[in-house]
Amino acid sequence: MKRIAVLTSGGDAPGMNAALRAVTRCGIARGWEVFGVHQGYAGLISGDFRPLTARSVGGIIQLGGTILGSARSPEFKTEEGRMKALWELGQQEIEAVVIIGGNGSQAGASALSKMGFPVVGVASTIDNDLVGSDVTIGVDTALNIALEALDRLKTTASSHQRAFLLEVMGRNCGYLALEVGIAGGAEAIVIPEIKTEPEEIVQIFRHAYERGKTHACAVVAEGAAYNAAKLAAYFSEHQARIGYELRSTTLGHVQRGGAPTAYDRLLASRLGAGAVDVLASGEKGVLVGMIKGQVTTTSLDKVVGTQKPIDPALFQLARVLDT
Ligand code: ADP
Repeated sequence: MKRIAVLTSGGDAPGMNAALRAVTRCGIARGWEVFGVHQGYAGLISGDFRPLTARSVGGIIQLGGTILGSARSPEFKTEEGRMKALWELGQQEIEAVVIIGGNGSQAGASALSKMGFPVVGVASTIDNDLVGSDVTIGVDTALNIALEALDRLKTTASSHQRAFLLEVMGRNCGYLALEVGIAGGAEAIVIPEIKTEPEEIVQIFRHAYERGKTHACAVVAEGAAYNAAKLAAYFSEHQARIGYELRSTTLGHVQRGGAPTAYDRLLASRLGAGAVDVLASGEKGVLVGMIKGQVTTTSLDKVVGTQKPIDPALFQLARVLDT
């Protein structure tokens, strides 16, 4: 192995830069040349490869986002697009690519791997929906940002006897909402994996009101059948029964923008280094993730098209603690 490339793809996640830094420095430590591909798969197709040095990845471990840029590339989903990418990789004599990203990005990694090119994925998404890693790069930071928002909302909600809906990201996965809800002491949690009727939330809020709670909060996953907008529409017709005045906040991209937490920097450093170790060992077509505290590889075939389930025991715990 002499030359590798690294790219960040799909939704950005705090810690991607730390992973990029680890891949670069660990690759250089092995005597390899490392190239950064700009704008994800779009850059792979257009051949936007730039050399990375130990210095060019200096001062980025504390930065959110990704210095390489990220993009969504519909062209890469086509065989023709991927053929162009393979041609560009051949032109630069790149022997393997490290792909830092989430579910969609790893589907792209798998597709490239199936065309015979050595690929290693690094699990990075704030959604934490990737099979092959108990926790993915960026989740911890997103969780802490959402938690701070919930704490703040509870303070103002208490002053005004209000009920709040806080919508968090996560695509089709309820992990973020569930964890934030438990850590922030929300009265209700609404996630895609567990069917919840809006009337259940009305009852939870009403019950809290009758017991004299000064506020009530529900953390809602963006992918839930009843997201914050739909719940708010339902509640507007049942205000009198709920008791509290209602407000709704959608956190949106704020969750992605933070400086990575210590946990995310460490995780990203370990997984980035792990990706280089994996390539050096000759393994390919795998995702590098953290399972039971160990850097672990999982075949991309097993990762793609499977969604990590949430832990139902955590949802039950949330129900008990909400009382
Ligand atoms: P994330 O990694 O955040 O889940 P996306 O779902 O947006 O990101 O996917 C990122 C990119 O990965 C897409 O724009 C596309 O270029 C590529 N991709 C996604 N799915 C596939 C697929 N099935 N085959 C090939 N490439 C894919």
